[in-house]
Amino acid sequence: MSFQVTNKVVIVTGGSSGIGLELVRLFLSEGAKVAWCGRNSEKLKSSYDALSKEYDKNKMFIYQCDVLNAEQVADFVQSVLGRFSAIDMLVNNAGQGKVADFFATEEQDWVDELKLKVFSVVNMINAALPSLKKSDIASITNVNSLLGLKPETHMVATSVARAGLLNLSKNLANELVKDNVRVNSILIGLVESGQWQRRFEERSDTAKTWEDWTSNVATKKGIPLGRLGKPEEAAYALMFLASPLSSYTTGSVIDVSGGLSKEI
Ligand code: NDP
Repeated sequence: MSFQVTNKVVIVTGGSSGIGLELVRLFLSEGAKVAWCGRNSEKLKSSYDALSKEYDKNKMFIYQCDVLNAEQVADFVQSVLGRFSAIDMLVNNAGQGKVADFFATEEQDWVDELKLKVFSVVNMINAALPSLKKSDIASITNVNSLLGLKPETHMVATSVARAGLLNLSKNLANELVKDNVRVNSILIGLVESGQWQRRFEERSDTAKTWEDWTSNVATKKGIPLGRLGKPEEAAYALMFLASPLSSYTTGSVIDVSGGLSKEI
């Protein structure tokens, strides 16, 4: 069974590394036309170069863009339309988390976190919605975190902002149903990617290997499946929600946390 996205156009924000990069790869392998962005042009270019060895360059488009800058986002979307003439699916993935408890969170940190989690999605939707409304398979899929339901004190601002994004996703699902645009989310626990790689590089015990360090993190967090998730495992869930295979699903979430969410 295919995901039914051949020659359909998808935008993946933050597609130059981690979960976004695996999702770009998956869409290309399914024959979709994929546009992805990131802020760092070298990272973007190297993701493009690596993928172009395996996939059709005619179906690939990269654009340097900060999703928090509405003007850049509008230019990105116009450029995607210039290249592929349509937008069928939008995956809002770009972002990162802030590790700090309440007392270490400054006013600017609150502003930055709330802005990142909300406007990374608002800006993209404002720019892409007119095109999405014209698609017969339109979907918006948001990468969110389990923190939105299960807050952690050491990531207070991120947890609050993630809860806000969860609320926004449901609200949009309700509102956009009249336009046949489905809106869904995944809730991630801990997934091996750039964020964890950066934390690994800053570890105090430099003797620890990546495998030991991540397995230790999984044990400490009490992840029932006993390990961190792989970026492709998050990408599979995103692909399902973005594609027409989930055509009867909107306002929904898929938990990709290795069983970390023990509540019903
Ligand atoms: P990575 O750091 O590997 O990837 C993040 C991607 O987003 C990069 O391509 C980065 O490129 C891009 N990006 C970040 N900020 C912006 C911005 N303002 N504008 C445009 N692009 C941006 O991390 P992950 O793959 O782990 O993260 C993907 C998503 O999953 C994020 O939203 C993250 O918060 C979320 N998440 C991840 C978890 C995990 O355990 N990995 C847990 C919970 C949520 P560049 O830096 O060049 O802009």
